[in-house]
Amino acid sequence: MGVSTASLINRPILASIHTEAFRHNLNRVRELAPESKIWSVIKARSYGHGFEAAFKGLQSTDGFALLDIYDARWLRENGWQGRILLLEGLFHQNELALAQELGCDLVVHCESQVQWLEDDQTRHAKPANIFLKMNSGMNRLGLNPAVYRTAFHRLHALGYHLHHMTHFANADQVDQAPTVGEQLDCFDETIAGLEAPTSLANSAAILWHRNALGDWVRPGIMLYGASPTGSFKDIAHAHLQTVMHLQSEIIDIQELPKGARVGYGGRYEAPEAMRIGVIACGYADGYPRQAKDGTPVWVEGGAADDSGLICPLVGRVSMDMIMIDLRNAPHARIGSHVELWGTQVPVDDVAQMSGTIGYELLCALAPRVPIEIK
Ligand SMILES: *Cc1c(COP(=O)(O)O)cnc(C)c1O
Repeated sequence: MGVSTASLINRPILASIHTEAFRHNLNRVRELAPESKIWSVIKARSYGHGFEAAFKGLQSTDGFALLDIYDARWLRENGWQGRILLLEGLFHQNELALAQELGCDLVVHCESQVQWLEDDQTRHAKPANIFLKMNSGMNRLGLNPAVYRTAFHRLHALGYHLHHMTHFANADQVDQAPTVGEQLDCFDETIAGLEAPTSLANSAAILWHRNALGDWVRPGIMLYGASPTGSFKDIAHAHLQTVMHLQSEIIDIQELPKGARVGYGGRYEAPEAMRIGVIACGYADGYPRQAKDGTPVWVEGGAADDSGLICPLVGRVSMDMIMIDLRNAPHARIGSHVELWGTQVPVDDVAQMSGTIGYELLCALAPRVPIEIK
């Protein structure tokens, strides 16, 4: 993958991944949580950015957190000697040997995972780290407070190094109650007297609830420069940098008379004679099919004075193409570069016009889109 592959491909779409932005965003996390160690969350192929780029850009992290044990193996094969956390622990008991061989830290979130560790007779001399996960109110993964302390003592008795962990359901609800208060109270009450390091905060908590950081923070989306709330304006003041720039080109231009319709179903009707540009990017690349007319696309050098400008999407998104309104872009031509999301168009803006959040669009970047690591 990377530049050499990309240059062999005719179709102009490209996701360019800026490792310098990764470094910058990781430093921002350090500034916001100076007392905490950092698990850089790289699940889902690093939120669609690819492991290679994240591994390169996030070298100074304290550890990587992910889901799939084979991705942990990829990190070890590529020379990562620091810590790795399996965020959902073992999916099956038979993964334990490999997890130990790879030196992974494990989340333990349920009774059967506790049992698997108790059953294990082959435990290495060096005890591993366990992040014992409490369900403090989100009701997704985690041991309920009523059984949490017992599980803690059982694993402690096996010689594991224990950490207390929980996950917030509402840390991104910046100006609505309840946010993290109730979950935090539940967590604090349940662990009272059980000495161990803690891990609580996702990106939203790092940005907005710095009373709830803990010893290990777990940033995901903010490392990629997108917003936990799905709204870019909420992170505008956090000075994060966009890591993924999804780019393509105009591959055709149509001159439409007034009243002409555009794309499948003719959703858009030209209000006057106008030019539209056809772009090599569609839902099979990960561009959301739900995107409404008006979704912003940035066209390089398209404006009357040759500067870049935003042109609105017109018509339904196709598998391989979208169309944009070029009325304000007299200089746009076949071959003009466009940015679908990145610095000029925050991915969250595209997501908002499509009824989703930036996370989903980044993760859904299709494997057919070449990745260039910058
Ligand atoms: C995905 C995940 C995170 C990161 O969340 P962001 O909102 O992307 O910061 C943190 N902790 C856990 C347990 C997760 O699954």
